[in-house]
Amino acid sequence: MSSVVLDKVTKVYPGGHLAVDRVSLKAENGEFLVLLGPSGCGKSTLLRMIAGLEEITGGDLWLDGKLANQLTPRERDVAMVFQNGALYPHRTVRGNMAFPLEIAKEDPGAVRERVEHLSKALHIEETLERRPHTLSGGQRQRVAMGRAIVRQPKIFLMDEPLSNLDAGMRTELRMEISSLVRSLGVTTIYVTHDQVEALTLADRIAILNRGVLQDVGTPAQIYNDPATAFTAAFLNSQQLNLMAAGVHTPQNAYVLLDFGPHHLILPWSDPRAYATSQHVGHQILVGMRPDGLAPVPESYEGPSIFGRVRALEYHGHEWMAYVECGIPAAPVPEPPDQRVTANGHKRDRAGLRGMVRRLFAQEEELPPQERVGAGGVAGGIHRRSDLIVRLGSRPVWRVGDPAKVAVDLTRVMLFTPDGARIDPPRR
Ligand code: ADP
Repeated sequence: MSSVVLDKVTKVYPGGHLAVDRVSLKAENGEFLVLLGPSGCGKSTLLRMIAGLEEITGGDLWLDGKLANQLTPRERDVAMVFQNGALYPHRTVRGNMAFPLEIAKEDPGAVRERVEHLSKALHIEETLERRPHTLSGGQRQRVAMGRAIVRQPKIFLMDEPLSNLDAGMRTELRMEISSLVRSLGVTTIYVTHDQVEALTLADRIAILNRGVLQDVGTPAQIYNDPATAFTAAFLNSQQLNLMAAGVHTPQNAYVLLDFGPHHLILPWSDPRAYATSQHVGHQILVGMRPDGLAPVPESYEGPSIFGRVRALEYHGHEWMAYVECGIPAAPVPEPPDQRVTANGHKRDRAGLRGMVRRLFAQEEELPPQERVGAGGVAGGIHRRSDLIVRLGSRPVWRVGDPAKVAVDLTRVMLFTPDGARIDPPRR
């Protein structure tokens, strides 16, 4: 077992591409840490730097309290499994799994025992005498995992090990990885772009975007209490409603979130009201998950937004409504393109603020096929002024109906224009 500490670890590829930008992170002894983020965000680069397969441009890597930047992969005592767990084709499953122990000249009896024990844990004991080409994709990945872990490394690194498998096999193997790794107690860092994999496997999730660490926490923390708009949007099976709002404090009576055609009121008793009032006269970003919104009768007097139902979408277990309400959707703030300039790292925060301001002033609707944010919506029916509302199992509205939408203020998320939470979560 071993801990992994990254201290402002940075990777600049030749040509100036900043792939990982000052990431500080710790995986505790025996922890299962998942690195999550969209394709190209720097997850594999980070993993490869931990493994010693990629040079660290800046910052420090500590393995079990020892500075490891200059250590060779072998000295780091890590094992890695890739997307295509390549096996030796002319060796049997047993031969593949035993190989790292044979190289280390371990006692043949102990090798046999260890391989058989691990093959049972991985449910491949029936395949031990077979060659890789006779195995299914799932079985091959199990063998690759067995071979990586057989010599009991201090750290287990996995780079999208399930992404080449079909959905059923992914679910099955996911559960097995989880129980195997936990029973062995090996510190594991697991890379994926799949939010379900991350939520189901991780002790903690670290979420990356464009090389920048967005949030770190338990699955429940980062789902329910995300630190950034990017995290909220990325960890959302339905699309996040994200809108710009002006902040006012009329007669100092309360905090008003002004969406143009609609507004919401935060009373001073709301724990976020004071922090929000610091943005008075400016725009902020307001995030609402579709399940934090609900259809209500016209007589409802609580916090609400009014619109017209433009489309209904059937998801099998639930209906979603697209309510046209005239509030333009804001794009999820992204860190600017990662280029190293002559004077070091450059962040264009003023540019992002300008973008939110322009959006706020935007009257025109984009073409219907235009989509915003992460996740996407099937059918291409989301427009930039639709509020997406979860209806549950009954479609209480019909298309064209006037629609009053109750807003659960406790579930509304408030972000600065560059996407950081106005009321940062405690971790
Ligand atoms: P992820 O694993 O999240 O998909 P990667 O770590 O593979 O992302 O890549 C992060 C960024 O670095 C991408 O923009 C990718 O194109 C770039 N990149 C990866 N490897 C190299 C390389 N060897 N040389 C230059 N750029 C690279």
